Amino acid sequence: MLVSAKEMLQKAKAGKYAVGQFNINNLEWTKAILLTAQECNSPVILGVSEGAGKYMCGYNTVVGMVNGMLKTLNITVPVALHLDHGSYEGALQAMEDGFSSVMFDGSHYPIDENIEKTKEIIRIATEKGISVEAEVGAIGGEEDGVVGGGEVADPDECKMIADLGVTMLAAGIGNIHGVYPENWTGLNFDVLAKIQEKTGTMPLVLHGGTGIPAEMVKQAITLGVSKVNVNTECQLSFAAATRKYIEAGKDQQGKGFDPRKLLAPGTEAIKETVKEKMELFGSVGKA
Ligand SMILES: [Zn+2]
Repeated sequence: MLVSAKEMLQKAKAGKYAVGQFNINNLEWTKAILLTAQECNSPVILGVSEGAGKYMCGYNTVVGMVNGMLKTLNITVPVALHLDHGSYEGALQAMEDGFSSVMFDGSHYPIDENIEKTKEIIRIATEKGISVEAEVGAIGGEEDGVVGGGEVADPDECKMIADLGVTMLAAGIGNIHGVYPENWTGLNFDVLAKIQEKTGTMPLVLHGGTGIPAEMVKQAITLGVSKVNVNTECQLSFAAATRKYIEAGKDQQGKGFDPRKLLAPGTEAIKETVKEKMELFGSVGKA
């Protein structure tokens, strides 16, 4: 059964580790992540962007697929199904359709409007036992077509949003989505420390986990980050393994063109990436 992300993240914050959010795109992705979480005895958050939700034929389809797998694969570790960077309308829809966690990304609204809309989402989510993530300070790079500048969040605004009763808070600290440019200046730990000081026990979320050096991720976790989002890295692993299979001509040998064979190396590669991340975040054995 899907669970809210609240309990797993509060445990992570108290235990000074982080739970990975791994974004899903299709059946192979979902299966790879769930099996790895079970094998590692780790809690896990499946992230779905609005674009990926549309690609997978809507939130109903996603909920049906994930619930089916939890049952058939005997997944017993805590699993949250989370809308990533949801719009206001998207978050309402995902809650209606059975997601156990939603992010309402109001970071592009003026702060007053972000607060009003976040309050409404929290009101509905609380009734249904759904966890809510809010964002302050747009996270740079590309969020499903929306390109942001990599802002650094204002710790006072973070406190204001945290006090509304959100479950977890994403704050821009110089992190960006996608592949990091060579001239990237790194995470702003001074700001992260201030945000943690102002928000206390609130689990903090680090977006754009791909390409942040491992040491920086670890330091961010010691400063209150309890959820790290990983998306691009699984895509890169999947693509590289699939390319290797095709370039070796394996799709032209025997029944190598069978999608169950063709997609297998990429699926295995996702598993390896997810396992590495769970080890780095410290969530192995914490289910
Ligand atoms: Zn993000």
